[in-house]
Amino acid sequence: MSKAKKKIKVIKIDVDKCNGCRACELICSSFHATPKYSSNNPERSRIRLIRDPIKDIYLPVYAGEYTPSECTGRNKYVLDGREYSECDTCRASCPSRSLFKEPDSGLPLKCDMCDGEDEPMCVKWCLSKALTYEEREEEREEEPKLGEMEIGLESLVNRHGLQKVMDTIARLSKKG
Ligand code: SF4
Ligand code: SF4
Repeated sequence: MSKAKKKIKVIKIDVDKCNGCRACELICSSFHATPKYSSNNPERSRIRLIRDPIKDIYLPVYAGEYTPSECTGRNKYVLDGREYSECDTCRASCPSRSLFKEPDSGLPLKCDMCDGEDEPMCVKWCLSKALTYEEREEEREEEPKLGEMEIGLESLVNRHGLQKVMDTIARLSKKG
C-alpha cells in the first residue's frame, strides 16, 4: 500500500493561560449559526468551557466524536492539585449529559476546525493565547483506489445488500 502526506490540524490548549472569558464559545456558535453570525448561543458551540472560578478551574474542551452509549465507569483527574469532575475532560457527545448537543434538534456537535478558514475562529478570538493552531504533515497509508467494477459493485451492495447482489450474479451466471 502506498503512503501519502496528509495535513493534520492541531489546536494546542494552554490551560494556564485560559481566563474563562468564553469568547471561544461565542465566536464558534456565531460562526456556525445559520445564517452565519446571526446568533451566539454557547449551547451550540463546539468548544465549551468547564469553569469553576472558586477552584481556579478554566478548561476549554473541544467536541469530539459522538458515542451512543455511556461509559461504564468514570475517571477523575487531579492536575496541578485541582480535581476535575468525572466528565470534565471528555470530548464526546453522549447520553449522560447535554454538552455538545444542538439544543433544538439534540443532534451531536463536533468541532470541524472551522473548515475552509486559514485559522480556527476560536484561536483567532482567544486574546490570552490559551489556544494556538499548528499544522503538521503525517505520512498515512493511502486507501487503495477502487476500479470501475469494484465501485459499481460496492454501490449495488450498499443499496441492495450483499446477499441480493450475490443471488443475482448466481442467477445471471446460470443463464450465461
Ligand atoms: S477564549 Fe481563550 S481565554 Fe477565553 S475562555 Fe476561550 S480558551 Fe479561555
Ligand atoms: S475550531 Fe472552529 S469549529 Fe472547532 S471549536 Fe474552534 S471555532 Fe468551533
